[in-house]
Amino acid sequence: MPFRSVSSLHMRTASNPNNITERGARLFGVSEEQFSNWRWQMKNQLTSAQDAERILQLSVSEKEAFVALKDIFEAGATPYYVALMDLQNEFDPVRLQALPRLEETQDRIGVADPLQEVGNSPVKEVVHVYEDRVAFCVAQLCPVYCRYCFRKRRDEEVGLHFNPRIIDQGVDYIASNKNIRDVLITGGDPLIAQDRTLENLLARLRAIPHVEILRIGTRVPVTLPYRITEELADMLSQFHPLWINTHFNCPEELTPEASAAIDTLLSRGIPVGNQSVLLAGVNDSHERLKKLVEGLVRIRVRPYYLYQAQTVEGTAHLRVPIEKGLDLIRSLRGNTTGFAIPQYVLDTPTGKIPLSPNYILGRENDNVVLVDLKQKRWREENPLSDYVTSHHLPNFLNQDL
Ligand SMILES: *Cc1c(COP(=O)(O)O)cnc(C)c1O
Repeated sequence: MPFRSVSSLHMRTASNPNNITERGARLFGVSEEQFSNWRWQMKNQLTSAQDAERILQLSVSEKEAFVALKDIFEAGATPYYVALMDLQNEFDPVRLQALPRLEETQDRIGVADPLQEVGNSPVKEVVHVYEDRVAFCVAQLCPVYCRYCFRKRRDEEVGLHFNPRIIDQGVDYIASNKNIRDVLITGGDPLIAQDRTLENLLARLRAIPHVEILRIGTRVPVTLPYRITEELADMLSQFHPLWINTHFNCPEELTPEASAAIDTLLSRGIPVGNQSVLLAGVNDSHERLKKLVEGLVRIRVRPYYLYQAQTVEGTAHLRVPIEKGLDLIRSLRGNTTGFAIPQYVLDTPTGKIPLSPNYILGRENDNVVLVDLKQKRWREENPLSDYVTSHHLPNFLNQDL
């Protein structure tokens, strides 16, 4: 299926320096039509140092890591995603997400399943943490294996990808549990399947009367935008209300091709949100994070969550202190569009905890004392009442500021 853009705003033109299709076709020595075929992309995933070295100049760390990590968490990236990379710089933010590094062997605290998803799954691959919604992990394959993936444990299991028995059990579980009104289809990347396979799954979930909304978590707009064909979008639009959350992490990923894929989804009335992971060297500066979220709202993607990276094995070199994450969120507030600012969260086995900068200092008699965006005290008149005594704030004692 050749790639087609529906937006005149984001046309692929030979003069566009950000055109990845043209650059990629040249790098990989194929036609642009071939390069923009998603099946060709999946068949030609780079998985070894030998594959990668044909295109990129690998560092010693990367080269050795391909071998050292082969049986722990195998690498894989689409030619498209590789074409976003700086070919010389091993610390390029796209490379850091997709290519293995020897630092992965040096994480002292990372664990296999930090969210205890296995224990939280009443039937295999249905993670049921919140009463009213589940994450249903139907897929195992991805266009790109993100090095910080919190589900890398699944890499070793055989036959998880759209396994009919697992899907039957999961659908039955959801159908028999009337509290579930929201099903998040995830993986792996659930859009790595045939349209027909997806359609069948969506139809079965949509037929359950208590399932109100369907959601898909997918990184294909970022890692394989050619997968978002007109036919796929038409098929998905039969199952409204259907929401998609995708996963852009850095400004380099905001290409004309990604933008066209988003446009195709939006044109079918599918709202698209974004979940990023805070990653060292990828998006952990004010400038880069601001550029990312502003780029997202320009292509009409709403920043939803910014995740604190899980303490998953092999990721210490990518994790960022929570204090720095809080400072980054504080640095956006007041400095960009309000709805461009994602909620910073820490996911835990019992659910997501918001990580929010604190602007409330406490109560001073009939006032609540806050710190404003200029770092000044703000006293808001908010008289004591019956309600306040039982939901009280700490006393604000620092009177001299
Ligand atoms: C994140 C998550 C959800 C969805 O959470 P929202 O905050 O509603 O987006 C549902 N179930 C599980 C297990 C999750 O991890």
